[in-house]
Amino acid sequence: MERLTSFSDLLELQQVDSLIDKLREDRLKLPERAELREAAGVAAATASAHSEVYDRLRAVERSAARVEDDLTMTETRVREQERRLFAGALSAREADHLRTEVGNLGRRVSTMEDELLELLEERERLDVDEKSASETAAAASGAERRLVARVAELEAAIDTSLSRYRQRRAEIAAEIEQGLLRKYVQLRKHRGGVVVGEVDGRVCGACHLQMSVAEYEEVASDPIPQCINCAAILCL
Ligand SMILES: [Zn+2]
Repeated sequence: MERLTSFSDLLELQQVDSLIDKLREDRLKLPERAELREAAGVAAATASAHSEVYDRLRAVERSAARVEDDLTMTETRVREQERRLFAGALSAREADHLRTEVGNLGRRVSTMEDELLELLEERERLDVDEKSASETAAAASGAERRLVARVAELEAAIDTSLSRYRQRRAEIAAEIEQGLLRKYVQLRKHRGGVVVGEVDGRVCGACHLQMSVAEYEEVASDPIPQCINCAAILCL
């Protein structure tokens, strides 16, 4: 009678162990985890694209500020030299020299104005690009965060079930005779899958092969009967 209880407990233990294995596999192969990997890749790529356009924008802004400063200084210098020129009291040679300088400075001002205009136009383009890249990166990062939360939620749900089944497993295992339990654990470790089977009409419930009367009688006389075909522990 005691043996019967132990063996039927073993069948239940196998059921619970199969559920535990299934849950562990589900946890490992969550489809959302693959989605998360992809989303993380997109988030990283869009963040890097944003950072690149952001750096370019800042570089153009720095260049524009430099050219603007330079332009202001040169314009001031032009006005000073023009004032000196119009104030008179210069020798012809000095006046000539000053006119040349004013001419040169004027050309520089014009070049710098063109340069500044180009930089400001580029800044405007980059400003638009930067805003769009920033929005794309924020959306990708949001999608990644949502998936992180979803995966965590699914893992937590699986973990809750796992801990319930593990507790149930411990309760069942406590009811099973130690030698039988050891045999089961060993078989399950080496063979996996179904290692306990009920016998119905000399047919093993694990491999579904039928034993002859002689085979069955020999197996049934063992303290731990095992199928001669698949070695499953048999509940006779
Ligand atoms: Zn079998």
